[in-house]
Amino acid sequence: MAILRCDNVFCSKEFELRTDMIKTRVIKADIEKTYFSCPHCGREYTVLFTDSQIRDILERIKNIKQKIKANRGHGDRDLVKHLGQVKRLQEEAVRLGMKLRDESEEFLY
Ligand SMILES: [Zn+2]
Repeated sequence: MAILRCDNVFCSKEFELRTDMIKTRVIKADIEKTYFSCPHCGREYTVLFTDSQIRDILERIKNIKQKIKANRGHGDRDLVKHLGQVKRLQEEAVRLGMKLRDESEEFLY
């Protein structure tokens, strides 16, 4: 995926971020944190926060993307509509995710 450098000054080692390093943990009631850790020092990096509303949106995005993929090469007349839906849903997920992060960080640190 990507080569990252740990920003823990006592570590500063490079590591490769692989999909299987990305984990999810329930941090409060409905809220899940998606994160990965530096394999050298264990420092955690937050990818995103989700709640059931955001997970629902992400699920809808996945479904639309599957439709787009299934229709590829068959002259998808709804392609523009589908891409517009994905864009709107992604914007909504990002907006909600930022709000959630602001609310969540209070009890994380
Ligand atoms: Zn590290």
